[in-house]
Amino acid sequence: MDLYEYQAKHLFGEHDVPVTPGEVCSTPEAAHGAARRIGSAVVVKAQVKTGGRGKAGGVKLAADPDEAHDRARDILGLDIKGHVVRRVLVTEATDIAEEYYVSFLLDRANRAFLAMASVEGGVDIEEVAATRPEALALIRIDAIEGVDEAKAREIVESAGFPEAIRDQVIDILVKLWGVLVREDATLVEVNPLVLSADGRVLALDGKVTLDDNAHYRHASHADLVDRDAADPIELRAKEFDLNYVKLEGEVGIIGNGAGLVMSTLDVVAYAGEEFGGVRPANFLDIGGGASAEVMSNGLDIVLNDPDVRAVFVNVFGGITSCDAVANGIVQAVGALAERGTPVTKPIVCRIDGNNAVEGRRILAEFGHPLVEMVETMDDAARRVAELAGSAA
Ligand code: GDP
Ligand code: MN
Repeated sequence: MDLYEYQAKHLFGEHDVPVTPGEVCSTPEAAHGAARRIGSAVVVKAQVKTGGRGKAGGVKLAADPDEAHDRARDILGLDIKGHVVRRVLVTEATDIAEEYYVSFLLDRANRAFLAMASVEGGVDIEEVAATRPEALALIRIDAIEGVDEAKAREIVESAGFPEAIRDQVIDILVKLWGVLVREDATLVEVNPLVLSADGRVLALDGKVTLDDNAHYRHASHADLVDRDAADPIELRAKEFDLNYVKLEGEVGIIGNGAGLVMSTLDVVAYAGEEFGGVRPANFLDIGGGASAEVMSNGLDIVLNDPDVRAVFVNVFGGITSCDAVANGIVQAVGALAERGTPVTKPIVCRIDGNNAVEGRRILAEFGHPLVEMVETMDDAARRVAELAGSAA
């Protein structure tokens, strides 16, 4: 999950990284009040989860509360690269002497973290990396050793930070590393980190990506979820604790085991080419020991996706035997009717593996007009693609 700038800087503040005081506002009047409370010149900054806000007119200086009001009025409602601005951050303006760049990110390929730093910040760092790679220091960070003062000094020297501010930057780097570790982030980026005219080093912008897999360890992170922007079906799936990702097609997919579900997406996409280009509508892995309740929740989520025209349940019985899976489907269909959302879309089931014969017998006996059984995964994919294609 990516954070907004104001959320990132709030986390920075909690970890003693120096930031400027500010308030988030959704109206020009609120921006006026915030600027009055801050009591100095301010910057009014669009809060959208994309970079380059400055260039797009989303970052403006305001000398007094009246100007803050007007700049907020200009910025609220702007469309920045497809993101509509709903809130602005009104923050104390800094008299900038120099702009730098620092970041820590997870470097999966090298099974480590990477520190990047440059004294040519403020601008697009990708551009610095492409045109003047020698101006961007890249330092590998061992995941166990992390960033202590010595490591931070290595980064600062390698990037060529001015002597006079090295200790401040070292201190900030150690604290930013603390943000990454203690908040379970995979990215912490500050662009620009600035030197103010009065000699202080401050984080003026912040980007943080939190590791969703560590969400359960941070009760406070729930407040950071942007419910307006998140996909509503994914939010519901999360409430059921389901491993669900919304995709753009028409065929609902339910399977057990991430690998099986991934290959199901592939065979459905392939089969769908023949039937008007129908594609998988989602990824949903109901896991190894999928109970009837989990199957009900999964079917509930997938069937209530308005894009879905037909569902493919592809289960390979292992720990959970096929008869349990089949009973799960039968109970799920019954439970959905009880919830007042009876099944109205075709469900194609392929169940194989442990006790498959009994599983198939149970589904055959169930004899629901919308539940079909197909023996192989390829044939089932073709059948569900055909059903989804003809339901258009
Ligand atoms: P981004 O364009 O989305 O990365 O937004 P930033 O927060 O990085 O702001 C863009 C640019 O606006 C910065 O690189 C600065 O040059 C400028 N800026 C931001 N805050 C201030 C400030 O407090 N004072 C001044 N003078 N300029 C600022
Ligand atoms: Mn920036």
